[in-house]
Amino acid sequence: MRQPTIEVISTDILILGSGGAGLFAALHAFEANPRAAILICVKGLLGKLGCTRMVQGGYNAVLHPSDSLDQHFRDTIEGGAYLNDQELAWTLITTAPERIRELENRMGCFFDRNPDGTIHQKAFAGQSFDRTVHRGDLTGIEIMTRLMEQVWRRNIPTLEDHRAIELLHPPSGDGVAGALLVDIRRGTFLVVRAKATLLATGAGPTMYKMMAPSAEKTTDGLAMAYRVGARFVDMEMVQFHPTGLLVGDSGMSGTVLEEGLRGVGGHLFNGRLERYMEKYDPVRLERSTRDVVSRSSYLEIVAGRGSPHGGVYIDVSHLGASFVEHNFPGMVERCRDMGFDLAREPVEVCPTAHYLMGGVKIDTACHSNLDGLFVAGEDSAGVHGANRLGGNGVACSTVFGGIAGDRIATYIVGKNTPEVDDAQVHRVITRIMAPFDRPRGEDVYILRDHLKALMWEKGSLVRHASDLESAQQGLALLRERAQHVHVGGSPRLNAEWQEWLNLDSLLTVSNMIVASALQRKESRGAHFRSDYPGTGNSQYLQNIYLQREGEGMRLWLSPVQFTRLQPPASHPTALEQAYLAQEGE
Ligand SMILES: Cc1cc2nc3c(=O)[nH]c(=O)nc-3n(C[C@H](O)[C@H](O)[C@H](O)COP(=O)(O)OP(=O)(O)OC[C@H]3O[C@@H](n4cnc5c(N)ncnc54)[C@H](O)[C@@H]3O)c2cc1C
Repeated sequence: MRQPTIEVISTDILILGSGGAGLFAALHAFEANPRAAILICVKGLLGKLGCTRMVQGGYNAVLHPSDSLDQHFRDTIEGGAYLNDQELAWTLITTAPERIRELENRMGCFFDRNPDGTIHQKAFAGQSFDRTVHRGDLTGIEIMTRLMEQVWRRNIPTLEDHRAIELLHPPSGDGVAGALLVDIRRGTFLVVRAKATLLATGAGPTMYKMMAPSAEKTTDGLAMAYRVGARFVDMEMVQFHPTGLLVGDSGMSGTVLEEGLRGVGGHLFNGRLERYMEKYDPVRLERSTRDVVSRSSYLEIVAGRGSPHGGVYIDVSHLGASFVEHNFPGMVERCRDMGFDLAREPVEVCPTAHYLMGGVKIDTACHSNLDGLFVAGEDSAGVHGANRLGGNGVACSTVFGGIAGDRIATYIVGKNTPEVDDAQVHRVITRIMAPFDRPRGEDVYILRDHLKALMWEKGSLVRHASDLESAQQGLALLRERAQHVHVGGSPRLNAEWQEWLNLDSLLTVSNMIVASALQRKESRGAHFRSDYPGTGNSQYLQNIYLQREGEGMRLWLSPVQFTRLQPPASHPTALEQAYLAQEGE
C-alpha cells in the first residue's frame, strides 16, 4: 500500500456537515461559548450543498393567533402515524416560532409578508392550518445564504472539500473522540481530535433510482455512526415525495416540484386523466400526506394507469397562468428549463426518494448513545415518526442544530481533548485505500446503478417479504462485488474513489433500511407492505431499534412512549381499502 499522508489536529467542537443543522450548531455554540474552538468540515463548499439549500416550500411554525402549538403537534403526530418520539416533536414545535424570529431578526433572512406586515404563511399538505413560512418557492437559498454570511462574519474555521470518513474512538474504545477526514482535493488524511463531535451530514436516501436530495449526500454520517455502535431507530421509514420531475435519463429526473403546488389546489391525474386521489383519500385529496399521495401514484402506475413515461401528471393550469407564475417562479423556471410549461399544462411527475425519517436515536439535547457524539437534522430520528410533514424538515434541522450547539458548548467545559485510537485510524485507511492496490475488476459506476435499481424495485414504495429478502441478497452480492473495484490514479481529486466511498456508505445504510423493513410486518406511514397492508396497532405501535453487534446487526422492538398524545382506535384507511380492492380485481 502507498504511504498516506496523515495530519493530526485538535479542536473543541467538530461539526460534520454545513446544512441548516451544522451551521445553526456552529452559530449557537459560538454564541454560547465564544472561547470554544469550533471546526466545520464539509464534503463540498460551505453552505452550497446539502438539502437545506434546496428547501423550496418553506418552514412550519406556529405564528398566527388562530393557530396553536397543540394543533401543529397533532398534525405532526398524526402525520407520523404515532411513531414519533413525542418529546422530540414537541421540542420541534415549541422552538420553531423562536427560530423563525431568530432567522429574521438575528440572521437577516427575509420571508414573504402579508400586506399588513405579518409573515405570510402558506398551505402545505397534511396540515390543519396554513403555517408554512417561505421566501417565494426557494426558501432554502435565503436561509443558507444568510447563515453562511453569519459564519463568515464570525470567522468560524471551515474545512471545505473535506469528507468525513470515520468517527474515531478514544483508545479506551468507548464513545467518540473526533473523526478521520479525507481532503478531497489533496487526497490526504486528517485526524481531528475533538471534545465533542456533531453529526449533521443530512442522511439523504440517494440509494434509489428516483431521488431528490443533493447528490453529494450518500448517507455517510449514518454509515459512520453505525460502524462505531450508534443506536438507530425506524430505519425502514423512507419518505418518497409525490412530485419528482420525470425527464427521462436526465439527472433532473427525481428533482422535486414543491408541495405548495398541491397545497394551493393542484390536481393529480393518471394516464387516463382521472383524478385518482378521490379514490385513495376522498377527504384530503391531493392535500393528503406525502406517504399516501406517493403510494397512490405508485399504485396507479403499477396498475398500468400511468402516463406515457411511467408517471402521473400534476396540473395547476386551472389556477391561472399568472397566479402560478407569480407564486411559483422557481418551479415554473425549473419546468421551463426541461421544456415544460407548468403554468399552462400538466407536467409528468413520479414519486421520488426524498428524506429519511429513520436515523440515529437522540434525546432532546441531541445526544446519541455514544459519549461525545451529538446528532442533529436529517441524520437523527424520532421527530417525524413514520412520515415527515412538508415544512417540518428545515424546522427540524435548524431547531435541533441550535439546541446541539447550545448543549455542546457547555458539554465541552472542563473536558480535555481526547486521544484517538491510532489502530482504528490505520485500519480504516488500509480498508479505504485498498481499491488502489487491486487488479482491474468491477466498475464502481455500474455497481452504483445496480444498487439504485435494486432499491427502487425491491425496497421502495410498496414492499413485500420476498422482495425485501431478494434485496438483502442483492445487497450482499453488491457488497462482495464492491470488494473487487479497482480505482486508478492517486487519491488526489479522484472522482472514482469518492464514488466507491459513496457506494460503501450507501450499501451499509441500504442494508439497514431493508433489515428494518423486514421487521415491520405492517403498513404504517411511508412503509407499506403489500403482504401486510393493514396498520397493526396492536403489535406495531413500536419503534424498531437497530445497532451493530460484532459483524452482525441486532434489531429489536420497543413500544412507542405516548407521553403527550394517545393514538385513536385504528380502522382501515381509504388507501388500504383501495389497495385491497385493487388486489381483488
Ligand atoms: C428538493 C428538496 C426540497 C425540500 N424542501 C423542503 C421544504 O420545503 N421544507 C422542509 O421543511 N424541508 C424540505 N426539504 C428537506 C430539508 O431540506 C431537510 O430536512 C433539511 O434541510 C436537512 O438539513 P440537514 O442540515 O440535516 O442536512 P443538509 O442541509 O442536507 O446538510 C448536510 C451537509 O452535510 C454535508 N455532508 C454530507 N456528507 C458528508 C461527509 N461525509 N463529510 C462532510 N460533510 C458531509 C453536505 O455536503 C451538507 O453540507 C427538502 C429537501 C429536498 C431534497
